[in-house]
Amino acid sequence: MTDFSINRLDTVDSDFERRLKSLLDWNEQDDFEIQKQVLDIIAAVKKSGDQAVIDYTNRFDRRSIQTANDLEISKESLKAAWDNLPSAQAEALDTAARRIRAYAEKQTMTSWQFSEEDGTLLGQKITPLDRVGLYVPGGKAAYPSSVLMNAIPAKVAGVPELIMVVPTPQGEINQLVLAAAYLAGVDRAFSIGGAQAVAALAYGTETVPAVCKIVGPGNIYVATAKKMVFGQVGIDMIAGPSEILIICDGHTDPDWIAMDLFSQAEHDENAQSILLSDSADYLDAVERSILKLLPEMERAEVIKASLSGRGALIKTANLDEAAEIANRIAPEHLELSVADPDSLCAKIRNAGAIFMGRYTAEALGDYCAGPNHVLPTSGTAKFSSPLGVYDFQKRSSLINCSEAGADTLGKTASILARGESLTAHARSAEYRIKS
Ligand code: NAD
Repeated sequence: MTDFSINRLDTVDSDFERRLKSLLDWNEQDDFEIQKQVLDIIAAVKKSGDQAVIDYTNRFDRRSIQTANDLEISKESLKAAWDNLPSAQAEALDTAARRIRAYAEKQTMTSWQFSEEDGTLLGQKITPLDRVGLYVPGGKAAYPSSVLMNAIPAKVAGVPELIMVVPTPQGEINQLVLAAAYLAGVDRAFSIGGAQAVAALAYGTETVPAVCKIVGPGNIYVATAKKMVFGQVGIDMIAGPSEILIICDGHTDPDWIAMDLFSQAEHDENAQSILLSDSADYLDAVERSILKLLPEMERAEVIKASLSGRGALIKTANLDEAAEIANRIAPEHLELSVADPDSLCAKIRNAGAIFMGRYTAEALGDYCAGPNHVLPTSGTAKFSSPLGVYDFQKRSSLINCSEAGADTLGKTASILARGESLTAHARSAEYRIKS
């Protein structure tokens, strides 16, 4: 394989910082042409509703929809897809769904309150969102697992209405996606995608109901649209291309690690797969495995583009240095393929999901381990977390003042309000002071 090479870096090299920075640079969202195009799509959907959605869907998904009725996928179709699923697939979906639900149930936030000596009650009330939109990507590939990962936490949170959108290029509907939607309890599904689907969910059309929040991954058009409608609706995150960072102590079968690197690289030419190891000999062995295994891959061309572009094998002085680099990169997925993953994990501060030990392939997390696969990308794990039940619940604070409490708090509030020259605030509090 002469037309392929993967980047090799060593932390002792004088140009290491520069090369690492250029590998991590990701500025697709600064593409002003795409921003302008997405803005136009959103404006058109806001103005013309269903008709704009139909026009863009016909254009971008190569369809020939005539009426808005054709945008919706009927509930009967969802059920039929589930009923007709081959039993092995139905069992696999069901197993994945049960595990995702069991994990999500641990995340549920509950209401609480406490009382003070004078009888005043303070608390927090948890309420599910009224209606959410689930974006399931479908441009280049179908993602039944994404249906489960988006819908199940929303269901566990108690969201009463789940609206799914999934593009169906040339009208080809993936039955596994529909079956997953049925299993996860999606209420309504529409065969639309891209920025027009995000706009329809944000503003509502004659056919697509407006939601409170839009979640789920998608391509640059979807990500840009979500960013633009934020404020009108909530969003979970802005997802960039998939990433995996592996730290290996040099004792895992190099074929396993090569395949784990491929498993992200095959998503997308811009996906990022990086291996850190303190052994140069081991990096050589993984490179040999990559070259050996690549021809066997169905998506070899995508993997090659991804690994030779944003992928890298990096030699570090030791595993502590590898952990520090991982914290700087804050990867979406981090594999700790080492003898003692617990002690290395203690040094990790920034990562979307951490896969511990040689047997924990990241791919298990993509489908069925239980934790959510919708994860922060592009370094955003420095400040954000995986999709979870808490994304579908909100908190209201509760204050229930006793007469005595109104008296004490009223005096404090009055002083502070007069300090701010807000007389109505002060008098409102003072009216309730008895002593
Ligand atoms: P998609 O559903 O995100 O996008 C398809 C839509 O893009 C089309 O319906 C169309 O409306 C729009 N579009 C395409 N070309 C356009 C153009 N020139 N102008 C305007 N709109 C256009 O599906 P996709 O393209 O396959 O992308 C899915 C993305 O989601 C991938 O990057 C994949 O890696 C990512 N993904 C991430 C996760 C995760 O958990 N992080 C899971 C699954 C998929």
